[in-house]
Amino acid sequence: MMKKVLVLGAGQLARMMQLAGTPLNLDVKALDVSSNKVVHPITPEQIYGDLAAGIINADVITAEFEHVAHDILDECEQSGKLFPKSEAIKIGGDRRLEKALLESCNTANAKYYFVNSKEDFDKAINYLSLPIIFKTALEGYDGKGQWRLKVAADAEAIWQDMADFLNASTTVNQGIVAEQMVPFDREISLVGVRRINGDVAVYPLTENHHTNGILTVSVAAPINTKLQEQAGTVFKALSDKLNYVGVMAIEFFQVGDQLLVNEIAPRVHNSGHWTQQGADTCQFENHLRAICDLPLGSTALVRPTAMVNIIGEDTIPDEVLAIASVSVHWYNKGKRAGRKMGHINVSGEHELQLAQRLQNLADILCPKAFPDLNDFAKKYLDKQS
Ligand code: ATP
Ligand code: MG
Repeated sequence: MMKKVLVLGAGQLARMMQLAGTPLNLDVKALDVSSNKVVHPITPEQIYGDLAAGIINADVITAEFEHVAHDILDECEQSGKLFPKSEAIKIGGDRRLEKALLESCNTANAKYYFVNSKEDFDKAINYLSLPIIFKTALEGYDGKGQWRLKVAADAEAIWQDMADFLNASTTVNQGIVAEQMVPFDREISLVGVRRINGDVAVYPLTENHHTNGILTVSVAAPINTKLQEQAGTVFKALSDKLNYVGVMAIEFFQVGDQLLVNEIAPRVHNSGHWTQQGADTCQFENHLRAICDLPLGSTALVRPTAMVNIIGEDTIPDEVLAIASVSVHWYNKGKRAGRKMGHINVSGEHELQLAQRLQNLADILCPKAFPDLNDFAKKYLDKQS
């Protein structure tokens, strides 16, 4: 029988859930939280006039982002249909709650201090050592709402800027988390999934590259099994603690052979888009399977795969599609600078082939729109050959 899923949020993640759910006979609709209308995730024509109708007509409700208004989450929770639970979504949307969760599970993370006043700010600088990164506790994404303090002489100016930001903010309960800057070797993430009965499956670790605070490239390839185990243990601990249902992503800083948690995302994640072509079952399907209480699909790596985000552009050369094992995924969004508009997945039978294809891709794409890609591809290719 067809199960009906309502996704809170009508962006690309809801769209890709819809695309993955259709073959399983899952009917995925999306709540556009700005208009409060339930829409088709692809077209996006209106289906119901408000959330209440969307809830009544859904079997299962989930979210594509963690910054959903709490009254919406509470209304969905009361129906008994919301997976994961609102607690997990709220924790993912508040860096203070996230830190508390990590502490409660004894999970290694960057040293931090909560800041609500100038006094706290001075204490944070004393307690941590420079450089320090300050992040808004709520509503941060794609590196927005962050300040980096590198030299003591800049402290006053940064505090002024942060104070102005907080004063102008209309967000209730906004605050700042000061965090020790971690001299990481690289950033990696783990996407995993947990079913209601506690079954857990995790994908291979993904290596992530950011440009100007936005994820630009993710690569999934066979990785050091010790790191994979370490990350898997963290996933199990956190997802068990939350009694989590669905896909969850954990972002890590790797320092030597240690992993520090940066943040968690209680949803399908950009660093898991490669699974559409590189894994046995993609993250979107596995999220739907978990929330609909179906057996989880295999998360095994089928072949090394990289994902390249298309940011702020609504066209790319058609020749991209002539490269072997390339798939293009557009989100049908209006063009805006810095906006995630789509992504490109590219795979190879082995890492050298993947690196060569990534280099072919970098040669075709406009360097202005993909500023670091050529450099990344060159280094990756050097490492393989
Ligand atoms: P996104 O939405 O892309 O996940 P975000 O806005 O939620 O990002 P973070 O992931 O916390 O914010 O930070 C964005 C990036 O800033 C990180 O991927 C990392 O490159 C850098 N960064 C954040 N915190 C630290 C830290 N403590 N030490 C070093 N770098 C950091
Ligand atoms: Mg992040």
